Amino acid sequence: MVKKCIYCNAEISSDCVIDFCDKCGKNVWGDKMFNAIVQNMENARANGDLCHTQPAAEPRRELEGFEGFR
Ligand SMILES: [Zn+2]
Repeated sequence: MVKKCIYCNAEISSDCVIDFCDKCGKNVWGDKMFNAIVQNMENARANGDLCHTQPAAEPRRELEGFEGFR
């Protein structure tokens, strides 16, 4: 099963928690923000808590307590 980037249509892993490729994600949010968003999404999924598909709806608030990358 293959997903496609919503921005450029590039194929992305169906495993991916986001709907766009790295390149577009970084274009839109920048490296750090993008990584943080992905990390947050993966954490949420790991917790069985992934019930929406808008990771960047309120990135600032979600990232306020973010303490860095593992
Ligand atoms: Zn893309």
